[in-house]
Amino acid sequence: MSDTVSHFIRSMIETDRARGAHGGRVATRFPPEPNGYLHLGHAKSICLNFGMAHDFGGSCNLRFDDTNPSKEDIEYVNAIKDDVRWLGFEWANLLHASDYFEVFYLCGEKLIRQGQAYVCDLSADDVRAYRGTLTEPGRNSPFRDRDIDTNLELFRRMRAGEFEDGARTLRARIDMASPNINLRDPALYRIRKVRHQNTGDAWCIYPMYDYAHCISDAVEGITHSLCTLEFEDHRPLYDWCLDQLDIEHDLALTEPLRAKGLHMTPSRPRQTEFARGNLDYTVMSKRKLIALVQEGLVDGWNDPRMPTLSGARRRGFPSGAIRTFWERMGYSKQVATIEYSVLEGCVRDDLDSKASRRLAVLDPLPVTIANLPPDHCETLSFANHPKDPTKGTREVSFSPRLYIEREDFAEVPPKGFHRLVPGGEVRLRGVGIVRCDEVVKDSNGTVIELRVSLDASTRPGLPGAERKVKGTIHWVCAASAVPAEVRLYDRLFDVPNPDDDSDGKTYRDHLNPRSKIIVRGYLESSLRDVPIESRFQFERLGYFVADQFDHRMERLVFNRIVTLRDSYAKAEK
Ligand code: ATP
Ligand code: MG
Repeated sequence: MSDTVSHFIRSMIETDRARGAHGGRVATRFPPEPNGYLHLGHAKSICLNFGMAHDFGGSCNLRFDDTNPSKEDIEYVNAIKDDVRWLGFEWANLLHASDYFEVFYLCGEKLIRQGQAYVCDLSADDVRAYRGTLTEPGRNSPFRDRDIDTNLELFRRMRAGEFEDGARTLRARIDMASPNINLRDPALYRIRKVRHQNTGDAWCIYPMYDYAHCISDAVEGITHSLCTLEFEDHRPLYDWCLDQLDIEHDLALTEPLRAKGLHMTPSRPRQTEFARGNLDYTVMSKRKLIALVQEGLVDGWNDPRMPTLSGARRRGFPSGAIRTFWERMGYSKQVATIEYSVLEGCVRDDLDSKASRRLAVLDPLPVTIANLPPDHCETLSFANHPKDPTKGTREVSFSPRLYIEREDFAEVPPKGFHRLVPGGEVRLRGVGIVRCDEVVKDSNGTVIELRVSLDASTRPGLPGAERKVKGTIHWVCAASAVPAEVRLYDRLFDVPNPDDDSDGKTYRDHLNPRSKIIVRGYLESSLRDVPIESRFQFERLGYFVADQFDHRMERLVFNRIVTLRDSYAKAEK
């Protein structure tokens, strides 16, 4: 993680530290709601929150924002933890907003006692009718002027479960005429008789997001609460709640936590908003991702085509490339959609320097070198990396029976074709120049074999090796190659903005039918026993990873991470 990239949040923290705010301390948090898997957009927030804590010697909490019962699932909790760790971050504390339920409640009583909250009996529809619009002020609830004792009693009875769902709410008493609708006496608590996965049946009133979020930040001693732009209009409410509650000086509010052995030093955090990360050629709303999984349009949350972090991992994206990507994109208030190819570029940059090279043929055409004895067998030494000698060399077997890619031969070559043609020559990578003498076909006219002759004077190390031919192609030795299932993945959607439904089509209509193609290929024998998640460049084909779940020594399964070049840029020109 580099600390060289400057952006407005980094500058703000530097300024805060320079003026001694929070004693120079930096504490951030990443607060996911455990109701889905994390995606590449979340990674932006994770990189920012953990990154700032790291760069300023501070701490970052992972807080499950589980104040909304019924939607959450332990599967999501575990997946989120795995994903954050995979991205390369470790939290200072693992926390649940539901651990603060008692604190939220005490804060509610405090607001009531201060005359700043009241129990309102309006139905949801009435609340809406009283709220007003962007152009008209709202009207005061008839329950707004209840006296403090009545409010306290009703709030306690709400907690005790005496009222039906939706019968009453606790509302902040702010300003029904505020131009900011979020300040028109927003609900702080609602009644919901639903079991909560952490607190069970202990509660039947649940706090609203804005109220719970600012209190959670304060309780944990967060200094900088970094969130996405849609919360900008909520910031006045964030500040209002914390200004009234003064949590850092009112120890009674956090006493229930100390009683549970949770020792934290509360603070007065400040919220700052940045623009969400958006990528083209994908969707990132949780609702749509859940639909893709539930409707079987993809093979689960970790389908290598999914924009989820578990999908990116399975696809073979290095987590360092995702971190670099968001760091390069920077953090600002400017909303933009970034081209998916920029992310792929970061993946290629990362893999180009790190991945060892290997030979693989994914659409095999048999080739026989007729001027070598059939039992000829040798071992060639290949560099693992063209630019990095420290990656060493490996042995590659070579014999007269090979496979090449079917597309590296053309009986009737298109213009500019520099590979093998009848009677033509090509260099076999690391071997020498061969000439195609004979094309063998089956009864349907399909080419089933090429018979070639090797010019022995062009073998590596001999003076003739310098002889020029136009093309160099790769190959594998048929006798020693290992078969593998290779999954050729491409983008899940075939339009840049699958979210756009203005033409009546939805993202479901834009699924790319060629986003997953499974082929049987042959790999050089050194790939026989590589561990899952190891990544290679298959020369001339792209970067590939041994599948995290399906790859075994008895059944090799590789996923294409990314091609060597950006084929979309070409297609779009
Ligand atoms: P929803 O609230 O609709 O369930 P969400 O995407 O906001 O979805 P959360 O679990 O609430 O999901 O997100 C956790 C954190 O990640 C929030 O602070 C949110 O602002 C941030 N986040 C979510 N999506 C993005 C994104 N595309 N770019 C940057 N940050 C994001
Ligand atoms: Mg959210």
